Amino acid sequence: MTHDLTETFSSQVRAGSGRPVADSTPMEIWQGLSAAVVDQLADAWSETDRTYKAGRMEHYFSAEFLMGRALLNNLSNLGLVEEARKALAAHGQDLSVILEEEPDAALGNGGLGRLAACFLDSCATMDLPVTGYGILYRYGLFKQLFSNGFQTEHPDPWMEEGYPFVIRREEQQRIVSYADLKVRAIPYDMAITGYGTKNVNTLRLWKAEPIEEFDYDAFNSQRFTDAIIDRERTMDISRVLYPNDTTFEGKVLRVRQQYFFCSASLQDIVENYVAHHGTDMSKFATYNSVQLNDTHPVLAIPELMRIFLDEFEMGWEESWEIITTTFAYTNHTVLAEALETWDMTIFDRLFPRIAEIVREIDRRFRMDMNERGLDQGTIDYMAPLCGNTVRMAWIACYASYSINGVAALHTEIIKRETLKEWHALWPERFNNKTNGVTPRRWLKQCNPRLAELLDEVTGSDAWVRDLSVLADFTDSVDESVYERLAAIKHANKVDFAAWILEREGIEINPDAIFDVQIKRLHEYKRQLLNAFYVLDLYFRIKDNPTLDVAPRVFIFGAKAAPGYIRAKAIIKLINAIAELVNNDEEVNDRIKVVFVHNYNVSPAEHIIPAADVSEQISTAGKEASGTSNMKFMMNGALTLGTLDGANVEILDAVGDENAYIFGAKEEELPELRRTYDPRWHYENVPGLKRVLDALVDGTLSDNGSGWFHDLRWSLLEAGYDPADVYYVLGDFAAYRETKDAMAADHADTRAWARKAWVNITRSGRFSSDRTIGDYAREVWKIEATPIA
Ligand SMILES: *Cc1c(COP(=O)(O)O)cnc(C)c1O
Repeated sequence: MTHDLTETFSSQVRAGSGRPVADSTPMEIWQGLSAAVVDQLADAWSETDRTYKAGRMEHYFSAEFLMGRALLNNLSNLGLVEEARKALAAHGQDLSVILEEEPDAALGNGGLGRLAACFLDSCATMDLPVTGYGILYRYGLFKQLFSNGFQTEHPDPWMEEGYPFVIRREEQQRIVSYADLKVRAIPYDMAITGYGTKNVNTLRLWKAEPIEEFDYDAFNSQRFTDAIIDRERTMDISRVLYPNDTTFEGKVLRVRQQYFFCSASLQDIVENYVAHHGTDMSKFATYNSVQLNDTHPVLAIPELMRIFLDEFEMGWEESWEIITTTFAYTNHTVLAEALETWDMTIFDRLFPRIAEIVREIDRRFRMDMNERGLDQGTIDYMAPLCGNTVRMAWIACYASYSINGVAALHTEIIKRETLKEWHALWPERFNNKTNGVTPRRWLKQCNPRLAELLDEVTGSDAWVRDLSVLADFTDSVDESVYERLAAIKHANKVDFAAWILEREGIEINPDAIFDVQIKRLHEYKRQLLNAFYVLDLYFRIKDNPTLDVAPRVFIFGAKAAPGYIRAKAIIKLINAIAELVNNDEEVNDRIKVVFVHNYNVSPAEHIIPAADVSEQISTAGKEASGTSNMKFMMNGALTLGTLDGANVEILDAVGDENAYIFGAKEEELPELRRTYDPRWHYENVPGLKRVLDALVDGTLSDNGSGWFHDLRWSLLEAGYDPADVYYVLGDFAAYRETKDAMAADHADTRAWARKAWVNITRSGRFSSDRTIGDYAREVWKIEATPIA
């Protein structure tokens, strides 16, 4: 029984604020409207849960879900945007203002976490029986501010004021046991609505709470601190998301987190199996499959073994047989040295039984490989244990029935290099699943003007559920579509300029080219290359003040891991360049630099629809897939990129004339690197010396940190690593040439709009619906299960 949104909204606001709507704060109104949305979907959510649990299910385990905001997403999926707008207007409120009250659920670092969020959206839209499992971090990814151009990190208590989209299910709590601690895992469920369907899927996030509020005896004997020690140790487990997505700090706590959500989630899954099929576990893998999003949830493998062995008293062989038909593993990195490893002393300390099982997996692996005739060196390299180090990726490869990369090129590289020994053994386990993004959030919601044009051109909103239909319209539209597309981009840029002025205090010209690079700050992503281009262009204009260049706004957004100094130095450098350029009257009518602080999902939704140029310039072979490249493409920005990750497939989809590709290719780099001399480029590529020297000659200030000197040094001198590991100087000339040509091309509005249109209409294969369809059919073996 659903109620009218308008009525529920007003009573929800009143119940929450104790005041009529007119006297409530915008935050209280957001709360009330959000609660009213949950009211709307309650019945369908229960029904979906019941239906899915009776059949085969996929369980998506991920330490990260970068969900962003939920209200508009749900209103849009439920077809309630207009009704909400009217309900608010009746109280003199503006929906777009209320939407900005919502904090981002930033329970992830970047692409990997956002992928998980896009996947959930697609699963719900496609009526697929898939549940997400993760951790309810109290503090999401840190909030980024700039102080003198330096990144500073601040806590993000995103649900402190209450968050109606997660429901605490106290009665479904689990106990997770460590050798030194027992904790309660409380599930918080988030409803995942789909577009154009009644099904409502679930994301279950676990929160750690103490078994007892506090130690009463300690409290009574006046030992007040002792009384809360275990409580704090427990709360630590779900307190913060690790902001480091390359190397890992706080190792013991990190492992505790991983085990925490794996153990609680498996208890759920096993209990549901028993409820439907009894205690004979032999059909477990018929009804359940678990996708491991990277290696963070790999502890689920020995934990499920433990459950089978110890709680169901099954034998090793029969348990292992089920395990190896249950788990599937997604790899997200090409670098063997970036694969997660832990010290066994951590396992011994936290969960000796799991440690024991891991040792037994290792022992049997070695026997198994011996029988297959592998040489000792290969066995030692592939074994789960190396001395006292446990290699999570190797456990995943050994136990999983499917191993996938996330773009065609990436999958080829892991087959050929990163995981080549595994590929030699089990080639049939390997498959590619090129990433995708949801067109609901990344087109329909964030770019309503373009969505309306697509509705009109295609005659319906069918494209929202099947983006591939747009391909029929690449060439069959009349000339006016290009004019309208250009007008839409311009209107989006006007809106964006207002947003930037308000948020960053910088005035930008909507007639300039908006050239955007937004993604985590990493050396391999080469924000430095982009920064050098800007600095070089600045010097070119200073040399020749009447130089005829297309006006440009260079937009950056990126967080650096707090311990990654070189990444933080690049942020400081870009801010220093912005300071120089934006305050120079001689150039700031033509170029501006904006570093959007605290990059996150909702800023992305403002930035992407306004972009003309999408910077995807990683060193070839280093970016597994990239997904922001896909979001930009859908919104009609043209890719300026290397042949890396999914850029390769984007190029294939749009053709050479509709993308700007430059630089060394993955297969060329080993040979190029052999003779690479960055100093030669420094001396001989015009302008490069001036740019690099500006880092240390007083043109730009790093406030005495020495960071700019280090940056320059890392490009020119070999130290622990070779000089310029990411080939920044090697690719500079090609990058500048392509980027200059691209800027010149923008002047032809009609031709540019045509390229943008080709990008939009050919973006169908980068919908996460396509990705999820492939997983469902080829890996998960699940079917659409619409509720009645
Ligand atoms: C899409 C997205 C990413 C991934 O960006 P890449 O350019 O693919 O690395 C990271 N952060 C946020 C907030 C995103 O929306």
